[in-house]
Amino acid sequence: IIKVSNLSKIYGEGEVAVKALKEVSFEVDEGEFVAVMGPSGSGKSTLMNILGCLDTPTSGEYYLDGVNVSSMSEKELAKIRNLKVGFIFQTFNLLPRFSALRNVEQPMIYKGVPRQKRLKIARKALESVGLGDRLHHKPSELSGGQCQRVAIARSLVNDPQIILADEPTGNLDSKSEEDILEILNGLNEKGITIVMVTHDRVVASHAHRIVHFKDGEIIREDKTQNGINRETATRSWRDRDEIT
Ligand code: ATP
Ligand code: MG
Repeated sequence: IIKVSNLSKIYGEGEVAVKALKEVSFEVDEGEFVAVMGPSGSGKSTLMNILGCLDTPTSGEYYLDGVNVSSMSEKELAKIRNLKVGFIFQTFNLLPRFSALRNVEQPMIYKGVPRQKRLKIARKALESVGLGDRLHHKPSELSGGQCQRVAIARSLVNDPQIILADEPTGNLDSKSEEDILEILNGLNEKGITIVMVTHDRVVASHAHRIVHFKDGEIIREDKTQNGINRETATRSWRDRDEIT
């Protein structure tokens, strides 16, 4: 569902230019859960911003669900982004003055969804992350883990095929971290493709595969136990299919 080839990103020009991504190539299959790890400044967020159509590469190709988005205009990118991608950030990025419900409604306000429909979808999304009893709380009245769950609910309302999560558990205690990972796993099991940046090995082990970055390049990819189990399960299902 994601395919990038020889993707490069240079910030700035001349002597101050920073090469944040250097000819990166990789793919993510539909339904996969991929973790991205690497030291600070290695280009992880840069990659996520490009994958999420928030930024464009300096060179290279990006195919999203078969469509070449690398040379699209800002307007076309915004459309694709709203249609396909949900975002989750380390700092939640919620609107502080608005309730949980209103925060989750926000992407639908952009899209012009009628109010009643918006409320219904937002309420359902918040219930799905266990916050049915916190609809009218503001971010300052919620715990970090609850704020992140609001952000997940918000990322779901446009029914995305892909969720991009940039250190979603970076600011959370271990209990909230577990809650968030459980929710992400559940979404992945429903077929949503997930790419998640994390500094934490244990968090990354929830994914099927770990892509390691260093200095703007992929230096290694590992399959996790979850990935190996998933592959075995798919294979045995296929074998059975062939017999019958
Ligand atoms: P962290 O783990 O600290 O979040 P990261 O792997 O996400 O790091 P990026 O944010 O992708 O790293 O940054 C990669 C490099 O690009 C860094 O050297 C950074 O200083 C530089 N960079 C990122 N954004 C910009 C920008 N908007 N303008 C100029 N340089 C940038
Ligand atoms: Mg980052």
